[in-house]
Amino acid sequence: MNKKLNVAILGATGAVGQRFIQLLENHPWFKVAEVVASERSAGRRYGDAVHWVVDGLPPQDVANLIVKPLGGHLDSPLVFSALPKEAAVEIEPELASAGHVVATNASAYRMETDVPLMLAEVNSSHLGLIDIQRKARNWTSGALAANSNCTIMPVVMALAPLLKFGVTRLHMVSQQATSGAGYPGVASLDILDNVIPYVSGDEDKMPIEARKMLGQFNGQAIVDLNVRASTTCTRVPVIDSHLVHISVELESKPSMTEIIDSWSSFRGLDPVPRLPSSPALPVQHISLQDRPQPRRDRMAGNGMASVVGRLRPCEILGYKFFTLAHNTIRGAAGSSIQNAELMAVCGYIDGFSPEI
Ligand code: NAP
Repeated sequence: MNKKLNVAILGATGAVGQRFIQLLENHPWFKVAEVVASERSAGRRYGDAVHWVVDGLPPQDVANLIVKPLGGHLDSPLVFSALPKEAAVEIEPELASAGHVVATNASAYRMETDVPLMLAEVNSSHLGLIDIQRKARNWTSGALAANSNCTIMPVVMALAPLLKFGVTRLHMVSQQATSGAGYPGVASLDILDNVIPYVSGDEDKMPIEARKMLGQFNGQAIVDLNVRASTTCTRVPVIDSHLVHISVELESKPSMTEIIDSWSSFRGLDPVPRLPSSPALPVQHISLQDRPQPRRDRMAGNGMASVVGRLRPCEILGYKFFTLAHNTIRGAAGSSIQNAELMAVCGYIDGFSPEI
């Protein structure tokens, strides 16, 4: 077996950073060797600096690491970023330029034309942008790959198997968990016993990220999917997982059975289904009429599956259904780890080529 690759986590004390640490405990290829956070936490033992909000406790070896400040030297070849956009904007290209492979959750570079915006089962070919990026930016072994906004993620996963029917128009309404706003996020007096019909920034990001993620890589650039989309985002008193209701227009008017079969047979291209973090079924269809539900379905596929249900005719666009995914696992840290696994297998991490 290969020696494990040391990884650093930027923003390690936040909602997504903690999820990275939880998911990487016992990871077959990667080992958390460095944790980085703000001045508030730097210099402290991780176990003392973090306010742990995910289940269980931080693994002891990580709890004993001393939190590093942002901008200091890092030894780890692979860096996972769970920084706010403002903190990510300078450091991520700096680290890539210094030879690190950076897998980021921040939105700072998602829409750069040479940065792949990955959802591995959907667009593994987009990783080819790294060759373009390295040439354009004069990066030799470094790279920058992003994963998407956590609310568009379950939409993209549900639509990818339907692209063959011609996806032309979309209407999306989200019900987003509080952990999507990070920690401490939304104040309890705002969200308990309430629904907030506004989530800052997400309505703009969702359509543009979907067009890029569902687009085609032509060897040089991504050609966006041509789809019209209307979006409404809301925040609900759920801890984890975003539920999105979608109405969709499909050009070739498939039957409901064809849609369900397309979801159930969807796997992504090899080697994605064989990566350690890939779920056996990336899109799980539930036929019960009151599912998917956040509490019951967010851990499908260890939190890495999208769960779809309530497929029915839509009087305006043709079909409508719900899709759900765990926002800090599949919508953030879990996808980033899977992207890094794919980059490793595809030879983008110098000197580290795990066998699968
Ligand atoms: P969060 O809970 O607010 O955590 C932010 C983390 O960044 C903390 O570790 C914080 O450290 C650190 N940090 C803040 N400013 C810093 C600075 N100037 N220098 C160094 N470290 C700094 O946020 P989050 O929800 O985990 O989100 C992290 C990123 O992932 C964001 O870009 C977000 O948009 C993206 N994202 C989040 C989700 C989600 O569901 N939450 C999903 C997808 C993507 P201290 O604890 O020391 O302050």
